[in-house]
Amino acid sequence: MPTSDDTPSTKLPRLTREQKLRARRLLHMEYRPSEIAAELQIHPDTVYRGLIPAGCPHRRDERGHIWIVGTELTKWLSAHQKPHHRLAPGMAWCCKCHQAVPMQGPFKTTITNRNLELVSGVCPHCQTQVNRAQKRTVDEENPDGISKPSHTA
Ligand SMILES: [Zn+2]
Repeated sequence: MPTSDDTPSTKLPRLTREQKLRARRLLHMEYRPSEIAAELQIHPDTVYRGLIPAGCPHRRDERGHIWIVGTELTKWLSAHQKPHHRLAPGMAWCCKCHQAVPMQGPFKTTITNRNLELVSGVCPHCQTQVNRAQKRTVDEENPDGISKPSHTA
């Protein structure tokens, strides 16, 4: 059995949402690192220098070849994912201040799709525009109705 509980020497490489979704489609079979790379559409070096040093479960055969069981990689990836932090209502992430800030008006709401709208406000520290996607509050039949978030200060 591979020991994945060892203290990882490297940080888990950052994977995009699409790459994580592709990882969920891996099968319960052994893959070579190059095959994992092809399935996830990542560079083979990311497997050798990123995933494996970070503690990804794998085995080495008698010829020194590395094998990774797809479903074990999927499980390991989801176990090592950073927990998703939800922002409190009325807060937005300011990319300039690198922190969550309370959004200030003037607010502008743009409908993104059927379920989401984008609320734009201003960071109280640096006056940069900050955006936040949220569940739609704007009525489909009455798109000019409510356009401001309820937490307007
Ligand atoms: Zn800011």
